[in-house]
Amino acid sequence: SDLQSELMASIRTIPDYPKPGILFRDITTLLGAPRAFRRAVDELVHPYAGLRVAKVAGIEARGFILGGAMAHQLSAGFVPIRKKGKLPHETVSVAYSLEYGVDEMEMHKDAFLPGESVILVDDLIATGGTAEGAVKLLRKMGADIVAACFVIDLPDLGGRKKLEDLGVSVRTLIS
Ligand code: 5GP
Repeated sequence: SDLQSELMASIRTIPDYPKPGILFRDITTLLGAPRAFRRAVDELVHPYAGLRVAKVAGIEARGFILGGAMAHQLSAGFVPIRKKGKLPHETVSVAYSLEYGVDEMEMHKDAFLPGESVILVDDLIATGGTAEGAVKLLRKMGADIVAACFVIDLPDLGGRKKLEDLGVSVRTLIS
């Protein structure tokens, strides 16, 4: 579609970043393009307008930028999901798998009331390891996950399927 072409054209591909052999999809160029940024956020929230979503949870760091804009559009609150050790108050944490090894992510333990509805967001889903960790964390807190949203899906890496197998509805704009 016209939106997909505009978003694709606004994303820059950097070869060999952060390591040789990796093609990194750089969304800073999308964020810096006023119209592409607005259209991406509008499209991400479109199905949820009027649904009384309580919170948008964004994954550090690019999920903060998209999630802040989405929360504003939906008149929802924003909740940061951060790497271990970055949040000042008491946290709930979960281990998640990276390409090599594991890491931990955290959320404030009072970020949700049980049963509150939440939309999870990040810029890109690849293997789904990061988003799976975030889903576990949100479920630990008793949040009700309405959907997980990403601007970019890398379908060959299986992340969307991994989340769908966990019973999460997934929304992506381009693959
Ligand atoms: P996954 O855990 O699904 O394998 O990797 C997704 C996570 O790594 C997301 O937090 C995403 O921001 C980051 N990521 C992995 N590859 C890329 C990429 O090519 N571009 C961007 N912008 N983020 C990436």
